[in-house]
Amino acid sequence: ESFQDVDMGEIVMSNIALSRYTRPTPVQKYAIPIVKSKRDLMACAQTGSGKTAAFLLPILSQIYCEGPGEAVSAAKASGQDNGKYGRRKHYPISLILAPTRELALQIYDESRKFSYRSRVRPCVVYGGADIGQQMRDLERGCHLLVATPGRLVDMMERGKIGLDYCNYLVLDEADRMLDMGFEPQIRRIVEQDTMPHKGIRQTMMFSATFPKEIQILARDFLEEYIFLAV
Ligand code: AMP
Repeated sequence: ESFQDVDMGEIVMSNIALSRYTRPTPVQKYAIPIVKSKRDLMACAQTGSGKTAAFLLPILSQIYCEGPGEAVSAAKASGQDNGKYGRRKHYPISLILAPTRELALQIYDESRKFSYRSRVRPCVVYGGADIGQQMRDLERGCHLLVATPGRLVDMMERGKIGLDYCNYLVLDEADRMLDMGFEPQIRRIVEQDTMPHKGIRQTMMFSATFPKEIQILARDFLEEYIFLAV
């Protein structure tokens, strides 16, 4: 088994080599072809399994392979309307929701590695930190946004982020987000009118466990999904 088994394009392949990942972990081996085939995914995987790269690599590969089209239209759209307070509004192509600042930062670090030398610019926003600084960072462009749910709702209310072009949605550690009481914020984000609907966007959920509440979320957010347990 190797990362060469699935063609993810030149940029992703060279960034995998730079990251010194030599072999895919089991969740990467199974999830990457599923995501590349554009199916929705519900994956049960633990922290440390390599789940972050399992969703980031195929998403970035899709964004690059789709060529300038999607990325450019979103980038062009970015900044076209002014949000409230006269600030520019940004439209990420991909959104990754995570329960904590620590996890959001880890996902952001990985996304920076894998988007090196590409046109895709990742950003991260999380609660408990200066929102002004995070808004200034968004000003430099944002194609892939990693966010904790509460801070993202805040950014949306300020008219800073629009999800109209969000073609890739990931809920990471979904069980932990529910344990932390984020379900209302998650529903507010995913179920808003302007978000591309399920079946149009591609949605991936990762969770260590698969209790009733996660099954309901999967039913509501995913379209004919593939279930993967590693
Ligand atoms: P994660 O489960 O995504 O939090 O990843 C756990 C750790 O494993 C992180 O430090 C990753 O950088 C690392 N990692 C993920 N995939 C691989 C791989 N294929 N080869 C080597 N290290 C990896």
